Amino acid sequence: MTALVWYRNDLRVRDHGPLAAALAGGGTVRALWLFCEQQWDEHDVAPLRRWYMLESLRELGRSLAELGVSLDLLECGDFASAPKVLDEHVGRHGVHRVHCNREYPLNEMRRDWAVAATLEQRGVSLAWHDDGMLVSPEALRTVQGKPYTVFTPYRRSWDRQLDAGPLQLPGTPSPAGDPVSFQGEARIDSALEGLEVSTTARGIWSPGEAAALERLDRFVDEHLRDYAHCRDLPELDATSRLSPALSAGTLSPGRCYRLARQCADSEPAMAEGARAWIGELAWRDFYRQIMVHFPRLARGEPFREEGNFLHWSHNDELFDAWCRGQTGFPLVDAAMRQLNETGWMHNRLRMLVAMFLTKHLFIHWGRGERYFMSRLIDGDFASNNGGWLWSASLGTDAVPYFRVFNPVRQSQRFDSRGAFIRRYVPELRELDDRNIHTPWKAPLLAPDYPSPLVELAGVRDRVSAAFREARQRAERERRR
Ligand SMILES: Cc1cc2nc3c(=O)[nH]c(=O)nc-3n(C[C@H](O)[C@H](O)[C@H](O)COP(=O)(O)OP(=O)(O)OC[C@H]3O[C@@H](n4cnc5c(N)ncnc54)[C@H](O)[C@@H]3O)c2cc1C
Repeated sequence: MTALVWYRNDLRVRDHGPLAAALAGGGTVRALWLFCEQQWDEHDVAPLRRWYMLESLRELGRSLAELGVSLDLLECGDFASAPKVLDEHVGRHGVHRVHCNREYPLNEMRRDWAVAATLEQRGVSLAWHDDGMLVSPEALRTVQGKPYTVFTPYRRSWDRQLDAGPLQLPGTPSPAGDPVSFQGEARIDSALEGLEVSTTARGIWSPGEAAALERLDRFVDEHLRDYAHCRDLPELDATSRLSPALSAGTLSPGRCYRLARQCADSEPAMAEGARAWIGELAWRDFYRQIMVHFPRLARGEPFREEGNFLHWSHNDELFDAWCRGQTGFPLVDAAMRQLNETGWMHNRLRMLVAMFLTKHLFIHWGRGERYFMSRLIDGDFASNNGGWLWSASLGTDAVPYFRVFNPVRQSQRFDSRGAFIRRYVPELRELDDRNIHTPWKAPLLAPDYPSPLVELAGVRDRVSAAFREARQRAERERRR
């Protein structure tokens, strides 16, 4: 009897339902990873994220080997080849059952349905697990039996579900047998060759499960208490920066939740911070269940239909300036340069730059979404799509279209002394704490910094008018 664990974005051995279930079966356990580099290209996966995944895969292969489980790395190309590759592998090793964690974007779900159908013909079942979420996507419904599309009631129901009993995690697995050796190092090395990843970025991030667990403990010890008050201030580094680990699955959301919950329940001083942080894990689940219930979002459609009737700008020069952090608005530029240099951006700044692109420059959210994916170490389809549609006022529980973040006011409020701006925009280092938010008022002190790309006055009115017109057009189209 051989059970196979098919790894995807869940590169860990602890708190891993598929591995625990396969080991519990008692027979031989093998593990598998498919190299789908063509699919990575099609999905714009950033080089830095690939590096993070590959190094985490290396660590996983070694950890599994110590547990007596061989991790095989197979060539697959794109998702369409997955059923054939898996079918052959299953036949070769006499596998009777395949275990894997579900993935929720449409392409991944289609791949898995096709694999399940192929294996079924062989009499081999595919057992799904949901470790990637705290509450599985089908578990929560409104009183009308519909999926939740508004976060606050979703969160209430999500909390109730998690309050119903202690979260069961598989924990640390016991070995399946004597250690074996991991054979995949050379293939990982060849995949790493030619990836353009800067030494700065490599120095910031530590791939793998051990590093993720360490970061989680450090964050809880040092920052969880003040999270609610400090999380919006980018200069403080007060958030966990666990998003790369959560999106590659080197860490389970279950472990994060359980630790934060223990802190909230046992230490009153930690409760506020822990509750706020748990709220972010709830947003992560919220966007995942939205992906499952509204798969059209994965085809590039907005949730709100007026998004199909807006006349977006196609100005490549403006888009390029936004990408390079040359808009003339210091906090927007600092944020984009943080992304370009480190592969990560603070959440408040993601909202700011996304709103700036879609509202001030009136450029289609899909272009920003793709650019983010091509740069982010934590690129995650559901969270990225959810964040972009929220910022563009076209998502499920999105910001209202007439709410437009003013980049100067956001800068004065969330980076009041300009410390974050100075870190990423050296041209502005000489400006004082007041002028750093509006360098056009002191042009002699920042001669190399660009002038603002747009006039701030009138943006809100322009956006409101465009949305009103798009709504009317959508309404007319519906009546036809
Ligand atoms: C336009 C836009 C694009 C985004 N793209 C991504 C993406 O590709 N990948 C990604 O993981 N997150 C994305 N986010 C969500 C959020 O910005 C990041 O998860 C967060 O900044 C990661 O930093 P952290 O780990 O320090 O978060 P913390 O504040 O420590 O939060 C803990 C965890 O909760 C989750 N989380 C936090 N905020 C959100 C949120 N708003 N939505 C969903 N999950 C959240 C993340 O997994 C995060 O690691 C995006 C947000 C916006 C507005």
